[in-house]
Amino acid sequence: MDYIYDDQNIFAKILRGELPCNKVHETEHSLAFADIAPKAPHHVLVIPKGPYVSYDHFARAASEAEILDYTRAVGEVIAKLGVGPGDGGNGYRVISNSGSDGVQEVPHLHVHILAGRNIGPLVVNQP
Ligand code: 5GP
Repeated sequence: MDYIYDDQNIFAKILRGELPCNKVHETEHSLAFADIAPKAPHHVLVIPKGPYVSYDHFARAASEAEILDYTRAVGEVIAKLGVGPGDGGNGYRVISNSGSDGVQEVPHLHVHILAGRNIGPLVVNQP
């Protein structure tokens, strides 16, 4: 494993309180906040507080406590939004972009939770 974490990325600055965010949810190991440029009526980002670059980095290197906390935090945000089919909602999409092919802009693991309208096809540009 050779992941290099840049602690000057925007989400690291949000975690340190150097930049503001519209907080949606916070747990011991995770933070959720509104995306600054929402692509849907609900667009929430969920990040771990630890220094993980990507989903695979987190899944391979994080502690079980962090992984459990983060997974639960995603569920808690979806519950707060009330969009889960189990809560009578119309559903949502969870996306995590990684690296250049994944078109990741901020190199700190985040999942996007998009909801509030039909999110459309999974991938627009086909091979
Ligand atoms: P990525 O392309 O890395 O998966 O997505 C990064 C996301 O972070 C984008 O949707 C972008 O709008 C969001 N973003 C970038 N800078 C900021 C910021 O300063 N604050 C917040 N709340 N979101 C940001």
